[in-house]
Amino acid sequence: MAPIKPHWAQPSHPDIQEVIINDAEFTTKSISKVTLPPWALFAKLDFPPCTQAAEPTYATVQYGRDKHLNLNSDLLYINHSCEPSLYFDMTAMTVTAGPKGVQTGEELTFFYPSTEWYMAQPFDCLCGKETCRGRISGARDMTSEHLGNAHLNVHIRQLLAEKYATELAIATPAVDTNVHVNGGGKHTNGLSSANGTGIDYAYLGVTDALAGAVAGSLRRGPTSRELSGEMGGDTSVY
Ligand SMILES: [Zn+2]
Repeated sequence: MAPIKPHWAQPSHPDIQEVIINDAEFTTKSISKVTLPPWALFAKLDFPPCTQAAEPTYATVQYGRDKHLNLNSDLLYINHSCEPSLYFDMTAMTVTAGPKGVQTGEELTFFYPSTEWYMAQPFDCLCGKETCRGRISGARDMTSEHLGNAHLNVHIRQLLAEKYATELAIATPAVDTNVHVNGGGKHTNGLSSANGTGIDYAYLGVTDALAGAVAGSLRRGPTSRELSGEMGGDTSVY
């Protein structure tokens, strides 16, 4: 992320973080001063220095469905990576080591879609990791395949479940129309009810099924086949 003028006393986290500013390239990154096992506490997100933000910006972190905070510290200078060394736990209001822990000298990174539902400025990730997703946006605009087995905050998981359920509820009547008008061509996945009014039934059923699928994706890894193939059929829009 591009350097921004800090309005806080620097360094804010001298024991755990070294901020490196590259003026020539307008880039900033952070290096870990500590080695921690997976999920160990790295830093707390206290209010203050954190403050509630009125709306999301490039300098905020989302901590609820409609809640965003300004970090107001050097923690702002933590870049995105598809294999992050840190995790922002916005329920516990902590920053922990990532799924593989963090090593002294390693760049401090986190997976931006793990906290952000929407990002005004998506970007191309250059993390170079084997699992790099390429284009990074808020979780709303990423495919279930690209979110993969990333560790996501509760508010992101809930919003994803609602998004998938809504898309399928919209897709279901389209399938029904297609069957009647064109005499088929698209499978219905059994979502249409016998009385022809099955939208509500389908919606409820699909909601539960997808909530389970989303939860499953967090445990098992990519489930794009489940989400867009078996459940959504060829009518889903991702
Ligand atoms: Zn990447």
